[in-house]
Amino acid sequence: MNLKWHLSNEPPPLRTSDEGLVWHLKHAVHCGCRPLLNDVKDEVENRGIFVVVQSRT
Ligand SMILES: [Zn+2]
Repeated sequence: MNLKWHLSNEPPPLRTSDEGLVWHLKHAVHCGCRPLLNDVKDEVENRGIFVVVQSRT
């Protein structure tokens, strides 16, 4: 878990808002302590955004 990233990046209250999607996608890149939630994935797909998230470990 990337604690430093979490401390400087507060999660927005609404996951499927613009801010929420940005937070979750950045989180997947910088930390990834949790998988992307289904409602976040659905919203990303609904918006036609193509995302590939790979673990760096
Ligand atoms: Zn995390």
